[in-house]
Amino acid sequence: MSIECDVMVKLQSDVTVELVKHSASDSDVLWAARVSTAGEQSLEEIHKDPEKSKGLINFLMRDRHGSPFEHNSMTFFISAPIFVFREFHRHRVWSYNEESGRYRELQPNFYVPGPDRKLVQQGRPGKYEFVDGTPEQYDLVSSTMEDAYEHAYAAYQKMLEAGVAREVARAVLPVGLFSSMYATCNARALMHFLSLRTKDDRAAVPSFPQREIEMVGEKMEALWAELMPLTHAAFNANGRVSP
Ligand SMILES: Cc1cc2nc3c(=O)[nH]c(=O)nc-3n(C[C@H](O)[C@H](O)[C@H](O)COP(=O)(O)OP(=O)(O)OC[C@H]3O[C@@H](n4cnc5c(N)ncnc54)[C@H](O)[C@@H]3O)c2cc1C
Repeated sequence: MSIECDVMVKLQSDVTVELVKHSASDSDVLWAARVSTAGEQSLEEIHKDPEKSKGLINFLMRDRHGSPFEHNSMTFFISAPIFVFREFHRHRVWSYNEESGRYRELQPNFYVPGPDRKLVQQGRPGKYEFVDGTPEQYDLVSSTMEDAYEHAYAAYQKMLEAGVAREVARAVLPVGLFSSMYATCNARALMHFLSLRTKDDRAAVPSFPQREIEMVGEKMEALWAELMPLTHAAFNANGRVSP
C-alpha cells in the first residue's frame, strides 16, 4: 500500500531549553552545610565572609559531601527529539512531565543534524571519535531524513483521518520527532547529569555523550551557572564530578 505524501514537515537542528522556575542559589548550599557546625543561621551571617563561603563550597565538592547541594530546585522546559528524551529519562532522580501522544495530535517537527554535527564514527565502542561528514553525506542525511519524516507523518495523518486513535497511529512516527517536557532537578542531580552528558577537558572522568543530549546539557549548564556561580566553579575545579 502506498501513502500519498504531500505533507510539509518542519526541520530543526537545534534544541531549546528554558529555565521556567527555580529556587537555587549558592546560599542554599552554605545554609544547609552550616547547620552541621553552627546550627540555624541567618542569610546575613551566611554572606559575612565571601572567601569563606567559596572555600566551604569547594571543600564540600572536593570531599563529596553531596547533600547540601540538594536543597534547591530548577525546572527546565526542554524541546528536543524523542531519542534525546530516551537518554534523558534514564536519569532517575529527576522529575519529568512530557507532552502526550495519546491526548494530543503530534506536530510535524523533526530533527536533522546541523552542518556542525559530525557525522562519521571512527574506532571501536568505548574508544571512538566522530569526524566531519563529506558534503555528499550531509546532503544524503538531510534529504533521506526529510523523505522518511514526510512519509511517516503522512501515514500518521492518514490513520488519524480514518478515525484511528492517536495512541495507535503514533507508532509510525520516528525518534527524530520533537517532543517537549518539564524536567526538574536539584544541583546535585544536574551535576551528575552534566558529568555524563557533556564533554569537557576539565572532567576527571571523561564521558562520550551523544551530541544532541550534550546540546541540551550545555544550555542547562549555562542557565545553572548564573544561578549558582560558586557551585559551578567548584564543580569545574574538582573535575566535574558530582559530589
Ligand atoms: C555515554 C553513555 C552511554 C550510555 N550507553 C548506554 C547503553 O548502551 N545502554 C543503556 O542501557 N544505557 C546506557 N547509558 C545510560 C547509563 O547506563 C545510565 O542509565 C544513565 O547515564 C543514568 O545514569 P545514573 O543511573 O547514574 O543516573 P540516575 O538515574 O540519575 O541516578 C543517579 C545516581 O543515583 C544512584 N542510583 C539511582 N538509582 C539507583 C539504583 N536503582 N540502585 C543504586 N543506585 C542508584 C546512583 O548512584 C546513580 O549514579 C549510557 C550513558 C552514557 C552517559
